[in-house]
Amino acid sequence: MPPESSTHDGRLNKFERSPNVEDERSWSEALAHVRKNGIVIAAPGRSAHQRGTAYDLSGPDLSAIVKGVLKAEAAGSIKLIRPPLVERGNNCVHVEIESPVIDDSDFEFEFSLK
Ligand SMILES: [Zn+2]
Repeated sequence: MPPESSTHDGRLNKFERSPNVEDERSWSEALAHVRKNGIVIAAPGRSAHQRGTAYDLSGPDLSAIVKGVLKAEAAGSIKLIRPPLVERGNNCVHVEIESPVIDDSDFEFEFSLK
């Protein structure tokens, strides 16, 4: 990791230090800034995506994706950990399921019904 550098006025420039998941000080301020701007995001190393239980599903009709996900849950194909989250800024639906194992054939079936 490169050493911290100083700005011309002698203050430490913490952003020139390489961020590292284990070193919360290296990314906490950046995370707070992003969250303050309305972005919903997990802290590094704590995302359901990294645990393999979250998926971002994208397509032209996010409402149809939500409907399909809820239909798959109602049919018992998946078990949701929390309700699907529509992320319009990312054009996706964030879905967290209890098991990372998905039967692809059921999934295709759910989305082909609309
Ligand atoms: Zn997501």
